[in-house]
Amino acid sequence: MPAQKFEKPDSIIARKEALAPGEDAEKGLITLPGEADREIEGLAGGTYLTSKLDLLVGWARGNSLWPLPFGTACCAIEFMSMVSSHYDIARFGAEVVRFSPRQADVIIVAGTIVDKMAPVLKKIYDQMPEPKYVISMGACATSGGFYRQYHVMQGIDEIIPVDIWVPGCPPTPEGLMYGILKLKEKIERGEIRR
Ligand code: SF4
Repeated sequence: MPAQKFEKPDSIIARKEALAPGEDAEKGLITLPGEADREIEGLAGGTYLTSKLDLLVGWARGNSLWPLPFGTACCAIEFMSMVSSHYDIARFGAEVVRFSPRQADVIIVAGTIVDKMAPVLKKIYDQMPEPKYVISMGACATSGGFYRQYHVMQGIDEIIPVDIWVPGCPPTPEGLMYGILKLKEKIERGEIRR
């Protein structure tokens, strides 16, 4: 007989209603990050599941990103929109915006980076603790945008590694949100190790 799934919003483990934990536990289905649905097993009257520590750590990291906005121009306004109530990035656990690199794990570069600003960006990136991630938001941060000029960096990947590129001038708040969700997926899959 196929295992049945019992919905219980306060638990990630499917359990028969009205039964205390550990008491006549039911088999059920559970989905772990990076895996398909699989059956959990009953053992000695309890319920257990196994996973890889890497998966659980990646799942926790991906769902608790603390962004540092490095906003130098108009793209930063779209960032502000994304963290505000209408779009509400808190739904994905990334609302704890920090302005100290020591307290952030993802830097969102939003705006034009001139050559004078490049050492500052590099220093802030270096001060972030590992593991750390970079989102390049908008045409300017990604390629210099329409500033084909001697004093504008033609892409921040000249000085720091970039994990996600968000296109547009400006990118929409939805676009940036999509970028954060893609970053979350990459972290959960364990693709980024730095
Ligand atoms: S990409 Fe466009 S919106 Fe973003 S900082 Fe550059 S000019 Fe402004």
